[in-house]
Amino acid sequence: MTTQKPGWVSCAQDLAMINQSAKRLCMNPPLKKIKHTAGLLFSGGQDSATCLAWALETFDRVETIGFEYGQRHDVEMTCRMDVRRSVQNEFPQWAEKLGEDHVINLAGLGQISETSLTRDVEIGFHANGLPTTFVPGRNLIFLNYAAALGWRRGFTHLVAGMCEADFSGYPDCRMETLEAQMKAISLGLGRPYSLHTPLMHLSKSGAWTLAKNLGGDRLVEIIRTKTHTCYKGVHDKLHDWGYGCGGCPACELRANGWTEFSSRAA
Ligand code: ZN
Repeated sequence: MTTQKPGWVSCAQDLAMINQSAKRLCMNPPLKKIKHTAGLLFSGGQDSATCLAWALETFDRVETIGFEYGQRHDVEMTCRMDVRRSVQNEFPQWAEKLGEDHVINLAGLGQISETSLTRDVEIGFHANGLPTTFVPGRNLIFLNYAAALGWRRGFTHLVAGMCEADFSGYPDCRMETLEAQMKAISLGLGRPYSLHTPLMHLSKSGAWTLAKNLGGDRLVEIIRTKTHTCYKGVHDKLHDWGYGCGGCPACELRANGWTEFSSRAA
């Protein structure tokens, strides 16, 4: 459980603390309340919207962080503000904890990435088995920037929606990667940072259930109708499970998760 107060620590003193901090990665709800600010990696998709509710329930204050990295479809960037507004309007107890939104420009990442999310590359698999939707280094870079922002804004808790269960093909979503990254960040910035990944071991159906537990049907409806997950950027057709093309791997995952969640709820 994360109770470490943020603050300066010397490199000689902090190794044990940082090792401990790097292990505080995956936490299953329900959580103890944490009297600190958290910075949430917030893309406007289903996962980060669920994490937003989780973070608001867990922390005293939450700041949201978005990244412009040359995505081919920037519909998520619009959705993220819709989600924030809806949560503010419908959950007064969370609205007072919702702090600033930050958008960080990472255009350079888009320039060097030849992926289905940043170029006109067909969605499929590389010869090495990785999906073409994998943006090399993306999560590692996001965490570095979020931590650097936290250094200025005064938060050392980061929250993100990485999920090992559904995206096992993405090596930067693995616990081992994230532990190593958080250790490097904590050492490099001289503070014990913590990363919270409440979805790490949940299926997509489990993520819907978590949303329902956190904010009931109102939150599920916000996530269903305001978030965007589709790799192809299709956002003009509302299905039972939300907007999307219905055929890309992200839509399939989301649709299957919804079907499982709905059949369990019925
Ligand atoms: Zn799609």
